[in-house]
Amino acid sequence: MANNLIQLIVRTANDLDEMGLEKEAGVLDSMLEKLAYDPGEEAYVYKADLICKECGDKVKAELTAQGKAPADPSNERSFDSDQFPKGPYPEGGGEADSPHHCGMCEKFLANPLTSDGEKYVLEAAQEGGIPLEWQDEYSYLFGPEGYKEPGIN
Ligand SMILES: [Zn+2]
Repeated sequence: MANNLIQLIVRTANDLDEMGLEKEAGVLDSMLEKLAYDPGEEAYVYKADLICKECGDKVKAELTAQGKAPADPSNERSFDSDQFPKGPYPEGGGEADSPHHCGMCEKFLANPLTSDGEKYVLEAAQEGGIPLEWQDEYSYLFGPEGYKEPGIN
């Protein structure tokens, strides 16, 4: 999921910070804050996957109860997303090459799509049909006539 915009920004900010470029990392942090003004469906990054806000909050509470939370959970650069969820990030983790679902409960995260992602959804719609929640979120892809089940003309 390296193609995910927000994950990319988070990783780049980490890299800049490690190189001692804290000011530049701060610029990326404020970009993330601006992206958060209309969060839509929020998602956490955890163990190389995206999970929904509810699952992320649950995992955080469990890890915290087990004494496994990082010393400062608000400083996301002080820990790894393999150990503790990072986020929540807006718009289902941001633009991606496919619709994202929670890695734990399968909830649809309603992320925006890249042009590759739009192609993916259109092909899936033609080949076998797509879930109702994708039809709703990405209805703009299907033009004024709307989505049609494959095989129905
Ligand atoms: Zn979930």
